[in-house]
Amino acid sequence: DDKDVNPSTSHQNSILPSRGWDDISVYNAKKTQYAWFQAPDGNWELAKILSVSGTESLISYSEGKVLKVQSDSLLPANPEILDGVDDLMQLSYLSEPSVLYNLQYRYDRDLIYSKAGPVLVAINPFKNIPLYGNDYVEAYKRKAIDSPHVYAIADTAMREMIRDEVNQSIVISGESGAGKTETAKIAMQYLAAVRGGSGIEYEILKTNPILEGFGNAKTSRNDNSSRFGKLIEIHFSETGKISGASIQTFLLEKSRVVQCTEGERSYHSFYQLCAGASPSLREKLNLKSVHDYKYLQQSNCYTIPGVNDAEQFGIVMEALDVVHVSKEDQENLCAMLAAVLWLGNVTFAVVDNENHVEPVIDEALLSVAKLLGCEAEQLKLALSTRKMTVGKENIIQKLTLAQANDSRDALAKSIYSGLFDWLVEQINKSLSAGKRRTGRSISILDIYGFESFDVNSIEQFCINYANERLQQHFNRHLFKLEQEEYIQDGIHWAKVDFEDNQDCLSLFEKKPLGLLSLLDEESTFPNGTDLSFANKLKQHLKSNPCFRGERGKAFTVHHYAGEVTYDTTGFLEKNRDLLHLDSIQLLSSCKCKLPQIFASNMRSQPEKPVVGSVTKSGGMDSQKLSAMSKFKGQLFQLIKCLGNTRSHFIRCIKPNNTHSPGIYNQGLVLQQLKCCGVLEVVRISRSGFPTRMTHQKFARRYGFLLLDHVASRDPLSVSVAILQQFGILPEMYQVGYTKLFFRTGQIGKLEDTRNRTL
Ligand code: ADP
Ligand code: MG
Repeated sequence: DDKDVNPSTSHQNSILPSRGWDDISVYNAKKTQYAWFQAPDGNWELAKILSVSGTESLISYSEGKVLKVQSDSLLPANPEILDGVDDLMQLSYLSEPSVLYNLQYRYDRDLIYSKAGPVLVAINPFKNIPLYGNDYVEAYKRKAIDSPHVYAIADTAMREMIRDEVNQSIVISGESGAGKTETAKIAMQYLAAVRGGSGIEYEILKTNPILEGFGNAKTSRNDNSSRFGKLIEIHFSETGKISGASIQTFLLEKSRVVQCTEGERSYHSFYQLCAGASPSLREKLNLKSVHDYKYLQQSNCYTIPGVNDAEQFGIVMEALDVVHVSKEDQENLCAMLAAVLWLGNVTFAVVDNENHVEPVIDEALLSVAKLLGCEAEQLKLALSTRKMTVGKENIIQKLTLAQANDSRDALAKSIYSGLFDWLVEQINKSLSAGKRRTGRSISILDIYGFESFDVNSIEQFCINYANERLQQHFNRHLFKLEQEEYIQDGIHWAKVDFEDNQDCLSLFEKKPLGLLSLLDEESTFPNGTDLSFANKLKQHLKSNPCFRGERGKAFTVHHYAGEVTYDTTGFLEKNRDLLHLDSIQLLSSCKCKLPQIFASNMRSQPEKPVVGSVTKSGGMDSQKLSAMSKFKGQLFQLIKCLGNTRSHFIRCIKPNNTHSPGIYNQGLVLQQLKCCGVLEVVRISRSGFPTRMTHQKFARRYGFLLLDHVASRDPLSVSVAILQQFGILPEMYQVGYTKLFFRTGQIGKLEDTRNRTL
């Protein structure tokens, strides 16, 4: 019977008292000299308790200010010796202010990485800090440093991949500008440095400037904001060396190609081309300066401080060489970029008394036609008419100015997103060329975090839905599976509740009456409008606690990270994601040398009959996947892929909104910590046993360290002997039916000795 040999039996009731914030609501001010006090500005300040009388305390804070406050409004401060501990789990008092203070204490000393139990917290320094490069890589590889770092996470992932033969993932989240993409690159650099050798790692690293050039843009929140999500799976051979990689991208923000707000920019690639193209290329593409293109003019922002677009152009082209995109294809790529820019300059003139328009035949139109390799007349037709089938009849409808502008912009967006997909495809070909997949992999996910703006559209709707799913993965991974495992293995452990977001996910996914189904249904109705969609939501979902109808075309969703109100304007059109037939035919007949670019647009259309894919009033053909269904499919695949891995989580935090070094805004940090469940995870981890190993594995791994002879050779007896020899305290572990469970940090001593001995 397991119980008899369970060395922790006698301590079952002495599992470490949880000193989480639940227990400190009744706080005895007399005992501590220092406490946290919430100043009138909302910030927490460390206060010295001068005296206590009755329920009131006299405190001094912020250099001499003295105040009388209710004692129970104070929260106990941790002893000074705990200042700046590298794992929040080590804090005696786990309150919001102590967590905030601890992170700030470290941040002020350029210690931007901290652990929150199993999660790495990374606070954006907004300046270069000397924590990277070969010396650090070496140090983490040799385990000469153990302070929290992306390198340490990447290292752990690699070791666990090899040791346990399980694929790994590193899930990076955080809001825009928090440092996700930089963090992903740092992780990739570590893996490349430690497990490279074949040269393929160089190619993998070179995908970064390419994808950033074509998929990143300056926004108000980040000068180098990724406008797509990315999962890169790095493959390892049986010998543990990097052998290849594959990249999947999500939801490129197409609208940015044709419109962006004041002070932001379109995709870097356009500015890079205009600044960096050689004189001969300029001539071939009839390339002008950025100031000459309407798509780029509208935001009145052409440069980024500290960034040399011309230089970047060279870097991107060189990177394209590395991933085997031929010079010819590079030139074609540039031609497509130029075509998009010139498309934006195409204008229309009214040609009849019904306000129908036709494109003006000018330099812009002629340039587009030349760059795409089609006849000007053909382009003119595609931009100003729409072929439709009504019954058995084909009719040609002329377009009004608004419709023509839309068709022009749709074409531009479609070319650009086709270009992006094509690039990813080329990169994937290069990264997997001739390499058999034999071993394991580590996937790195860099995807936009939860978003809530003044106006939230379908983009935020998709992003927040994705984050809801990822949050569930996080919850399940860290809490639920953990709890289930304790129960299964019969160990004693107080069940800690965590907030599950299944209700909100159901609101999205329920069929047929969930947000996604209703959106798709309304999109297929020829007469469906954003308003009829909003009304339908209100009608069917009004009793759902995660949903609230708003006035007009809006609705509110109660997300795990807070409430977000969505404005349905543009939902249906963006979901239908239509490229009109004429444009499709135009693109397929173009002589431009990259017909593959358009393959993805073609593929998403029904094979047969091509005619009739657009109904008269612009409803969506039911055979064509809506933008939302496509995304949902990708997301499910992503979650499934993550589900087959052991995940490591990195939560990036943006300490201020001005991108300034050294500024730590408590409120902003706290809100992000809450949003990504960091506080919750610390609370739960502290009361659990996050490290576990089967009896067999434990005995096999550390048995050789035993100094004394053990009578019985069964794995459990050997394990218990090891634990005793190393003086692991009984409250620090539990023995389950099949596994040993440890509190954080307990295995370290064993691993160190093992590594030294081996
Ligand atoms: P996100 O992908 O989350 O939107 P980025 O990774 O693009 O954010 O980071 C935004 C900016 O913050 C970067 O361009 C860089 O200036 C700065 N930054 C982020 N992480 C670091 C870091 N570890 N060291 C120095 N600067 C950083
Ligand atoms: Mg990014």
